Amino acid sequence: MFTATKRSQIMASIRGKGNKETEVALASIFRRNRVRGWRRHLPVRGNPDFAFVKERVAIFVDGCFWHGCRAHSRLPKSNQEYWEKKLARNRRRDRAVTRDLKKNGWHVVRLWQHELKKENDVLLRIRNALNGDPRIVRLPRLK
Ligand SMILES: [Zn+2]
Repeated sequence: MFTATKRSQIMASIRGKGNKETEVALASIFRRNRVRGWRRHLPVRGNPDFAFVKERVAIFVDGCFWHGCRAHSRLPKSNQEYWEKKLARNRRRDRAVTRDLKKNGWHVVRLWQHELKKENDVLLRIRNALNGDPRIVRLPRLK
């Protein structure tokens, strides 16, 4: 077993990387494609990574490890039980946040970290969520 300190150091290193990278990656996709009108960490339920407030679109970029992506989330070798519980708790919280936001009229887009590689797909999903309003999302030509 890890000590509490050791464990929180490990978690901080993983979390730090995952969250920052995924958010920065989506922000740069937005900038590259001149997508405007979003805010980060809006103080509503779940603190969506990005939100288009007027259109009530909330976007989360879920890190493959922390949110338990089936393709890429591998449990660390030690303390498996701890990690299983922790990641299950994260997934439950994600579902609850999505449900609560929807109940309040938000359109919720959840993107996996690994999906960010397909930039056009990401933009398409977000454009659909925004009802294709061209003032907000200017898409590159889709292949
Ligand atoms: Zn993944």
